[in-house]
Amino acid sequence: MKSVYTLNDLRQWKEATAECTPPLRLAVIGDPVAHSKSPQMHNPALVAAGIAAAYTRLHIQPGELAECLRLLPAAGFIGINCTIPHKAAVLAAVDAPDETARRAGGVNTVIVQPDGTTAGTSTDGGGFSRAVRESFGASLKDLRILVLGAGGGAGRAVAMQCAAEGCVTLTLANRTADKLPSLAAEIATFYPAEKLSLTTDLAAVDLIVNCTAVGMKADDLSPIAADQLSARHLVYDTIYVGHRTPLLRAADAVGARGANGLAMLLHQGALAFEHWFARPAPIEVMRAGLLG
Ligand code: NAP
Repeated sequence: MKSVYTLNDLRQWKEATAECTPPLRLAVIGDPVAHSKSPQMHNPALVAAGIAAAYTRLHIQPGELAECLRLLPAAGFIGINCTIPHKAAVLAAVDAPDETARRAGGVNTVIVQPDGTTAGTSTDGGGFSRAVRESFGASLKDLRILVLGAGGGAGRAVAMQCAAEGCVTLTLANRTADKLPSLAAEIATFYPAEKLSLTTDLAAVDLIVNCTAVGMKADDLSPIAADQLSARHLVYDTIYVGHRTPLLRAADAVGARGANGLAMLLHQGALAFEHWFARPAPIEVMRAGLLG
């Protein structure tokens, strides 16, 4: 079995994967994709659930996306996950995107239906919600929330989830501030406009969520300095690199509780599993796979 397959393999999937038992019927598509941890989370889950299918990586370039989606049913796929840069394009390409995907502005989970059509959803926001519950024992609906990087893909999905669950207040922040008014207007179609803000006041925030790429490198500056944080803040950094991110180090410095993006990654995967198989995902098996 190869660790990464290509569109060329997908064109002749049965031949390209003839030696694979159980058959490869799920994949993450991306460009690049070799780094993806999704197989190490999903394959143990499939074994634990007694499902005779395996999960792999497909390196699909943007110009190959439409053909990839067309080929999935005949190749026997149950579904796929989508990562950078495909989420927005898959939203436009699947037959039936759901409301969550439309709000998130992208699809990270495709379900191949029995009739060969494709449904699409986004589990990033739901995964984030479960991660906050697991990490802090808190519900989004009870929190005043600041989303840093709300203009990016993850930030948009997180902001939409916070609003959909009726958080107490929602503050949107983004380096490129002119992305925010249109996002705020969209959110205001289903969330009270008076609870939305584009002006950050950390004294009026309980949960700070970093959805920017700042902190991927260990020597990045923290997006919020330690002297602006206090011990009562909850700090969720969606980044899941090996190091403690600068924002989490700033939280540590003032005694605030912080958690990294591993739980979000885990729970978005678990929700995808639940969409494909209509049964609870074996969370601890998936967590062990991710950490292994
Ligand atoms: P994206 O769509 O490219 O968005 C990047 C965001 O980061 C934008 O808001 C961008 O602001 C901001 N940004 C980038 N560099 C910045 C800088 N130097 N200073 C301030 N803001 C900066 O990327 P994405 O897919 O949303 O991913 C963003 C982060 O979320 C990544 O770190 C990724 O690891 C994390 N993530 C985690 C999970 C998980 O499951 N845990 C899932 C998805 C993503 P502008 O709009 O101004 O460019």
